[in-house]
Amino acid sequence: MSDYVKPAVILFLVIIAAGIAGGFLAADRGRRVAGWCLLCALFPPFLLLLYVARPLLEVEGMFRRCLKCGELIKWRSTFCKFCKSEVTRYRK
Ligand SMILES: [Zn+2]
Repeated sequence: MSDYVKPAVILFLVIIAAGIAGGFLAADRGRRVAGWCLLCALFPPFLLLLYVARPLLEVEGMFRRCLKCGELIKWRSTFCKFCKSEVTRYRK
């Protein structure tokens, strides 16, 4: 048994980790998980882009639409930062 880990193995683990992180970030922002998973695995800098990206869809527990202006706001916020109107709590 050797304690030496081949650089290729480390690189592989980094790629997998970046892919998984990208997948979770994409899911949180209502974006396509598979595509972002692959993109982040191949080009990890895209993780940053995804991190600051605005959501595209409503994601339960993360983002919802303002009923007045239709912009996506944080799930728990009580007012819309775009039209400054008060938003009632989301009811299913
Ligand atoms: Zn609004």
